[in-house]
Amino acid sequence: MPLLVVGSIALDSIRTPFGEKKEILGGSAVHAAVSSSFFSTTALIGPIGNDFPSEHLEFLKSRNINLSALQKLDGPTFRWSGYYEYDMNQAHTLDTKLNVLAQFDPKIPEAFRESPFVFLANLDPELQLKVISQLKKPKILAADTMNFWIESKREALHEVIKKVDFMLMNDSEIRQFMETPNLPLAAQRLLKLGCKGVIIKKGEHGALLFTDSTHFSAPSYPQAMLRDPTGAGDSFAGGLMGYLSRTDDLSESNIRKAVIIGSVMASFNVEDFSLDRLKRLKHKEVMQRFEEFRHFSEFEALSVVHWV
Ligand code: AMP
Repeated sequence: MPLLVVGSIALDSIRTPFGEKKEILGGSAVHAAVSSSFFSTTALIGPIGNDFPSEHLEFLKSRNINLSALQKLDGPTFRWSGYYEYDMNQAHTLDTKLNVLAQFDPKIPEAFRESPFVFLANLDPELQLKVISQLKKPKILAADTMNFWIESKREALHEVIKKVDFMLMNDSEIRQFMETPNLPLAAQRLLKLGCKGVIIKKGEHGALLFTDSTHFSAPSYPQAMLRDPTGAGDSFAGGLMGYLSRTDDLSESNIRKAVIIGSVMASFNVEDFSLDRLKRLKHKEVMQRFEEFRHFSEFEALSVVHWV
């Protein structure tokens, strides 16, 4: 399987200044897998409860996502509820009901253990470690996390960071985790923990990539259609990993393109609740927005400067 995504599968209840929706399809792995499915064949592993609506499974299958290793457990599906105020970069959690996520024991089928690209979406870092222990040397292993785990499973998260190629975090999470307001310093500290690259998602302000040898800044998109930012980080990661898996090119210039593809997918995902915008998204729109991103950060070299 070219790309394996492991993480949460959820029924989310969300309020934003633009509306309120209850029990809609969500979860870190779902947002990531639907986004990556635009580029690469993707297998999704995560737990669902016996109340998980079959229409959501049908939708995931319609995106050609391999669901053969999905775990159907006895109990209710994981639920997350939260709200956003006018600063939509900040999600406020109202309630996290782990439900079947608390019993989830990720078993990676033999056929998927050699997946060359693996994304560990936001999940208990102890479970992320269990997944890593079953993998056979992926070319790129990336992981995401959130404040819930930074606060409750700090040590396990350190272990995950040691083992991954790319660690993705949003700006407030990495500041909290590395105990500094300075993002380049926070990224350097995270690199010292052992990962090869750090990607900092800054919501509407773009994204930053840091490795030992490079720094790349993806521009922000002037998003006029923002309705629900839930899943922006996961759809970013799905786009990035799906594109890398599809192109199988790990050169720096291609990784930069992948960061932009991630930004493009996130910019669409936030235009509607749940996966509704990606359900309607066309390849042509992805291409057009990629070009818009390119033009936003294009400028010419200084020629003659008439210094005062
Ligand atoms: P994002 O907005 O990309 O950071 O991720 C939003 C998704 O993460 C939502 O659809 C939630 O269902 C899911 N989520 C929220 N809390 C957790 C958690 N503690 N563990 C795993 N997934 C979560």
